Amino acid sequence: MSYTLTIDEIGELDPDTVILPVGSVEQHGHHLPVSTDCIIAQAYADRIGEKLNAYVLPCLPISTCREYMGKRGSVWMNPDTFYLMMKDIVFSLKEQGFRKIIIVQGHGGIFVLAPLIRTLNAQLNPNVMICKLEPYQFFLPYVGSPSVPGCEASQILESNTIMHADKFETSILLYLHPEFVRSDRIVDFVPQYPREYLNYGSIFRVSPDGVWGEPSKSTAEKGEKLLKIGCELGMRYIKEVFRFMYEKGSLNGSSF
Ligand SMILES: [Zn+2]
Repeated sequence: MSYTLTIDEIGELDPDTVILPVGSVEQHGHHLPVSTDCIIAQAYADRIGEKLNAYVLPCLPISTCREYMGKRGSVWMNPDTFYLMMKDIVFSLKEQGFRKIIIVQGHGGIFVLAPLIRTLNAQLNPNVMICKLEPYQFFLPYVGSPSVPGCEASQILESNTIMHADKFETSILLYLHPEFVRSDRIVDFVPQYPREYLNYGSIFRVSPDGVWGEPSKSTAEKGEKLLKIGCELGMRYIKEVFRFMYEKGSLNGSSF
């Protein structure tokens, strides 16, 4: 159920679940478009929305990506602005009777989303429940570790790292939009710094090409699998999170 429907059609379908993909307009090295996070977030949201009969919104294109400044084209807002904007959106959905809200986070660097969702769930449960899903989240435990027999998620990512403009994002773009990938411009780079150094300086201080990972290991076939497995595990996760929130009941007067 997408945003191409009319209000009459949405009213007739009467969804209780809404999905908001959140992306970012930010640099993705020499080989991927600045819209990469938006494309991936929307693809996840559309696929999950179809299975859940949910109302899928168009991707919010701009969030918090100050860590990618240094070359023109990335656009960000301050985390406090983003926090207030997201709060307004959640309340506008609540006022229309949506009970379950799923936020698909396409840009890993929106750290303010976690405390926002915690606060809103504490204030709005059990009437409204909000779940956050990151396309990356099911693969991170397997990065750089040997593959686990019987676990497909662990067998696709033989990379040492997935962080940015990496094998994960490049494979999915190769699958969804090969025409957007400048394959002849792919550069691998794994900075010699941990991720939190993005709090101390732009990515270009630690990676001259703006890449963090091994995009040269990408294929469209891997992208198709990453999207498929990510959606399957995402569906399981969403159901489990909503079940948990629905069943938790009252605790000393609190619904959180
Ligand atoms: Zn990205």
